[in-house]
Amino acid sequence: MKIAILGNGQLAQMLIESVSDLALEIDAYPLPEIDANGQSTAAEISLWQQRLKDYDVVTYEIENISVELLQTVNEETRIFPAIDGLKVAQDRLLEKTTFKQLEIETNTFLAVNSWADLREAAVSLGYPFIVKTRRFGYDGKGQYIVKAPESLSKAWDLLGQYLLIAESFVAFDYEVSQVASADQFGNIAFYPLVRNEHREGILRETHVLHEEDELTFSARESVRRLMMHFDYVGTFAVEFFVKGNVLYANEMAPRVHNSGHWSIDGANVSQFRNHMLAISGARVVEPHANARHMMMINLIGENVPAVELPENVFVKSYGKELRPGRKMGHVNIVDNELETFVESINIIYQNLKAKPCLEEF
Ligand code: AMP
Repeated sequence: MKIAILGNGQLAQMLIESVSDLALEIDAYPLPEIDANGQSTAAEISLWQQRLKDYDVVTYEIENISVELLQTVNEETRIFPAIDGLKVAQDRLLEKTTFKQLEIETNTFLAVNSWADLREAAVSLGYPFIVKTRRFGYDGKGQYIVKAPESLSKAWDLLGQYLLIAESFVAFDYEVSQVASADQFGNIAFYPLVRNEHREGILRETHVLHEEDELTFSARESVRRLMMHFDYVGTFAVEFFVKGNVLYANEMAPRVHNSGHWSIDGANVSQFRNHMLAISGARVVEPHANARHMMMINLIGENVPAVELPENVFVKSYGKELRPGRKMGHVNIVDNELETFVESINIIYQNLKAKPCLEEF
């Protein structure tokens, strides 16, 4: 079977590595060219249709791809995950509207297309509230927290040229995400719920939660509804805010997700392998955690620590040139014993510029 991946960054790299033992022929391509409105030219679309027509399946590692391009490619080649899911994930307004339609709890939101809309949003949401660009915001970019009436015009100056969404600010306790993979037979394999710590809108740490509690049940139900709605095949993730016992869906990702990287070393089957199994027509495997304590540390703007690593630590470098704020790699720490688990976290952080996000693990 021949598979093409659109996007040739670290996610594509890890997708390919996850199935090196299987007889799949996989090529990763740089992303098709796209303009600021998410469109590709007719020439670009026909070039990609030509290039991809001999593949059995096309998948993608990132959301920034023209829907029209994929629809055209889809005339001759199967595309997973569903283009409808991608279309919704590209637009925060469509995303939140879909959550609401499927009765998935989310924070209050309003479309903002004018200065008057923004003023009305301030009245109906109260302060603080958040303004975000509807399209192509990632890692906290393209958003502004409006803390008081004085900063309303600043928000408009910064973002008024884009289509916007205004949403209520959630004073959450913490953030979690649910990763799951669905195959073409209707099976959905759920990974454990994980807690995510962000700084400057970028994921820094993921902690695997083991309890199968009310939050897990609720996250899985939301993800199940979305996956069924899109007739989804492949790996999928939803990020939630947790406040008390309630989950508020914030964002969905129709692809393998940074908060699932722990599964490479911490589970019997990684999110990458389950994605490839699903899109190539095999059954997904039910994930089981390998150990009691698991954590992933993202290496942001710094390289893999140059120290001898304990055996419960697994480091992955993405082989990229060092730049500030760039995701350079990640570190997975997997252990059954809390003491040695914490010891290893300390060793890693002693050798990084970044500081730990949590005081206790
Ligand atoms: P996003 O791009 O929507 O994932 O936002 C990036 C980060 O900003 C989130 O992970 C949260 O930490 C924070 N954030 C986004 N939206 C809200 C909100 N409505 N209330 C509180 N914090 C938010």
